[in-house]
Amino acid sequence: MECRVIGMWGGFPKKNGPCSGYLIQHDGFSLLIDCGSGVLTALQNYIDLNEIDHVILTHYHYDHFSDIGAYLFSRLVNTHLGKTKKELSVYGPEDDVVKKQVEDVAYSRFSSFNEKSQLEIGPFTCTFKRNIHPVETYSIKIECDCKSVVFTSDTSFTHDLIPFAANADLLITECSLYEGMDGAASGHMTSEQAGILAHQSNAKKVLLTHLPHYGNLTDLVVSAKKLGNPNIELAEPGMLIEI
Ligand SMILES: [Zn+2]
Ligand SMILES: [Zn+2]
Repeated sequence: MECRVIGMWGGFPKKNGPCSGYLIQHDGFSLLIDCGSGVLTALQNYIDLNEIDHVILTHYHYDHFSDIGAYLFSRLVNTHLGKTKKELSVYGPEDDVVKKQVEDVAYSRFSSFNEKSQLEIGPFTCTFKRNIHPVETYSIKIECDCKSVVFTSDTSFTHDLIPFAANADLLITECSLYEGMDGAASGHMTSEQAGILAHQSNAKKVLLTHLPHYGNLTDLVVSAKKLGNPNIELAEPGMLIEI
């Protein structure tokens, strides 16, 4: 299994720096997790859009889903051009407005998931945990070939993240805030809390993501490592992790 970071900025994209998007691949099968602002253009540095037929959206904040509309239009145009014959399957929390927006565009379909769901998508088994965030949001675990990737998406720290992420081969944890800030109020995690999750889950490799647009980002890594897991680094666009 491979994971390519497409983008990792929280809230809004930087210049040439997309928001949330992660390309998970195994044996030629591709799954996109989140399609935030800036993801669709950056994604094409690594793969033809027609080679991805499944997109999971963790929640409906713009930094995680705003580019999905353009993705639907690309599938519509490319189907008419004869460049693909497969529909685009979009998965997300139940939402009648999003479902209609997706299914109003030909060659696309929508499926909802919740905490009880287990999705089998190609070689990947996907399970979910409900987060603490202002809108319905899920952490996701992707398993394949006895390996696992856990992505927290956006959430305040909660102890039940630890068993969900236990022994992950790759943990991609949000780290929106610096040590000492208030994560509970905003629905996000500080570097200290990301460090607690990294250490107590015993994750083998950890990426800090959903990064803030201010401060010295390396302070986040220093702070998170203090909790005991040494295998922590910042997510960067284009980064490829072999799992
Ligand atoms: Zn976000
Ligand atoms: Zn959010």
